[in-house]
This record gives sequence, C-alpha cells and structure tokens, in this order.
Amino acid sequence: MSIAKVFAEADKASKEVAELTSGLVKFNSAHPEGRTDEIVSYIAEYLDKYGIEHEVHVTDPKKPNIVAKLPGKSNHKILWVGHIDVVPEGKSEAWKYPAYQGIIKDGIVHGRGSSDMKGSDAAAMVSARILSKMRLPHPVEFWFTSDEEIGGGAGAKWLAESGRLKGEVCVIGDGNGGGAENPSIDLGCKGGAQTRLIAKGKTAHGSTPFLGDNAITKLIKVIPEVYKIGNYKLALPEDLNKPVRDSIKFYIGEANTPELKKAVRRLFNYPTVTCNIINGGVKINVVPDYAEAEFDIRLTPGASVSAVKNEIEKIVKAAGVPGVEIAASTETHARGSGKLADQAGFYESPDTVFAKQFSKTIKKATGKRPGMKILTGGTDGISTSKIAGIPSLGYGTSISGVAHQPNEYITVENLVLGVRIYGAFPYFYKP
Ligand SMILES: [Zn+2]
Repeated sequence: MSIAKVFAEADKASKEVAELTSGLVKFNSAHPEGRTDEIVSYIAEYLDKYGIEHEVHVTDPKKPNIVAKLPGKSNHKILWVGHIDVVPEGKSEAWKYPAYQGIIKDGIVHGRGSSDMKGSDAAAMVSARILSKMRLPHPVEFWFTSDEEIGGGAGAKWLAESGRLKGEVCVIGDGNGGGAENPSIDLGCKGGAQTRLIAKGKTAHGSTPFLGDNAITKLIKVIPEVYKIGNYKLALPEDLNKPVRDSIKFYIGEANTPELKKAVRRLFNYPTVTCNIINGGVKINVVPDYAEAEFDIRLTPGASVSAVKNEIEKIVKAAGVPGVEIAASTETHARGSGKLADQAGFYESPDTVFAKQFSKTIKKATGKRPGMKILTGGTDGISTSKIAGIPSLGYGTSISGVAHQPNEYITVENLVLGVRIYGAFPYFYKP
C-alpha cells in the first residue's frame, strides 16, 4: 500500500526531479573551490516549502552540509548520504551544452554533476518530500554533503568523525546503479595501498656526474619494478566471490575493446597500479641527491593491504638498487599534504538482511533482480562505513561512463527510478 503510493508519487514527479537536478547543476560547486553554501540554501528552501525539518552542519563555512530529518515510528534510523560538490568541468569547448546551465531536453538533464551526483540528490529531495506526507515505519535522514570529491574533509569524513552520522543502515546515493536495464547495488568500494618510492643519492656538479650518485637514475630503474605488484593475485574473502564475478560482468559490459575487457577481467583479483607523480632534481646543472615517485595502487576490499605492502617491499629490495626504498607509511608526505593515510576500502556482505532488503526494494522498483558490485573508486561510504561504523550500500542514478567527463548527463527515467528506490526503501527495511 505505502510502497505503491511511493511509486505512484515518484512517477508523477518526473518534471519536478528533472527541474531540481537542473537547479542543483546551476550552482557551480566544482573543486578546487568546492563551494556549496548556495546549494545548501537552495535545498533548505525546498525543505522549508514542504515543512521538512532540517539542520546545517558546518566546519568550513564555504562547504556546509545539510540534513533533512523525517520522523518515524521506530528508533531504527535509516540514513541516505549523497554529495553536492563536483569535479571541474575541464575545457568548456568539449561541452555540447554549457556545463552549468542544467539544460533539460528530450528527457535528459545536461551538465556537470547531473550524473555525479546532483541527480541522485534531487531524487532524494523528492523522496523526502513524498515521505514527509506519509507515516514512516522508521526515521529517515537525508544527508547532502560537501567535499566528497576530495576526500570528505569538510563533508562526510568530518560528519562521521564528529559523531554526527548515526543510524542503523545507510544508503549511499553515489555511483552507477545501472538504471532499469541493468540494476545493481554497490556493496562497497576499492581501497588503496598508496606507495611512495624514494631514492637517495649524492649531489655533484652537473659537469662531473661521476662524482655524484644520481637519485633520478636510480629511481627510474625501480619504477617499472613496482608495476610488478599488478601481477600479485589477491586473496579475497569467500563472500566476495560472487560479487567479484558480478562486478566483472557489470564492468565488462562497458568495456568496448579487447584490451579493456582484459583489464576488467583482472580488475578485482589483482591490484591496479599506476605511477602518477614523480619529483626530483633542483637545477639542470646539479646531480640530484633525492627523487621520489608515488603510485596509486588500488585493491579490492577484503584484500590485505599489509600483504600487498610487504610484497612491494620485497620487489623493491629484489631490484637491488642501493638507496632506493619504500617510504614508511607513517612518514609525512614530502609536499606537506599530510600522511599517506590508510585507505583500505570496505564492503558489506551480500548475505546480510540489509543487502537482501535493499535488493528487494530495487527489484520491486525496476522489475529486475539487481546485481551486486564493488566500485573501483571511493565514495562517502568509506566514511559512513569505516568511520561511523554504519553498514552502507550504494545505489546511484548515474549513467555509466559520464561521471567526471565532458557532456555529463542523466536521464529523467533514471531520476524517477531513484525517487522510487530511495522513497520505498524505508518500507522494505525490517530490522
Ligand atoms: Zn560522486
């Protein structure tokens, strides 16, 4: 009864959710500034219009967070979390429609953030509006956060660390839920084993290099060695076997060359590794005595970060280049950006009651049984799950392959589906 009502209300809200998405896109909340103060006022205005209680939580005044609070009969609180910041639009020539005009055309909303993830935010706002007129079995909080694209320092990470995120289960609105065709739940996301390789040598005048010991020369000998970690087969917990197979199936559908398909087949059973920063040298006529390289290494959650780190140590030692070693993980970052933090991922087992009930919700909303996958990149789920300790599952309205790209868009169909799912879940949740 209530579920049917949510679905009916959601289906009537296609114009509203498209316009809200467009409205949110019009605020440029791109990093490096990542300003979200005006968006938060926009969301507050919407909530006020429907008499929905809300609070703003701020640690950085330019990057506030807002929560909509709906009362329920039980004390089993459900959270929904989504971010309102976006990545920069890049070159404006690459966009067919301007990045921040939120053009709505032929059932599609265009613009930066439409898919990642202001569309899901709009869907959550409409869900809150629909639910505010109903009797809810459980209290629900919809959190709209800042700073996700740069790690959540003023957003979810801070909210979790300061004890503001409290609930029994959490739905993350980020990510690509596969729409009605290929629905899928995000069980979690990969984590990192970020690694810094440092080379020390001896300086000398550039005209007499034989008197020195060139740190750059040594570093570049070892960099290709570190890539060997990409062949280290990860040991994964058993309950991840099926999600890993499902994830590969999901991503392989998006891979359109044999090379990409091959990469996807390895994507969860081996680490990915890429050297993304190299630093070294001070002047053209000075033999460098120091150089460093940083590797972004990503692992399926459940894999042992320390086992991978030990393996990298072994590889570097075996390379046998004196003065080249892995920086200790506690060592402060050379450029002062703090420590190379523990970035292990997280996942929820697909066998939990929460996962089953969320799966049921999506099946009812789409008519298809959803697959379950691991996201390759991080979300606010890292904070809600690992810091706040709340089981977190994701379903996002995003279109696959458009996040962080020019010509980002979202279909109104996906937005309505988001309203159906976020709105209905409280009625499926039975703790
Ligand atoms: Zn996102």
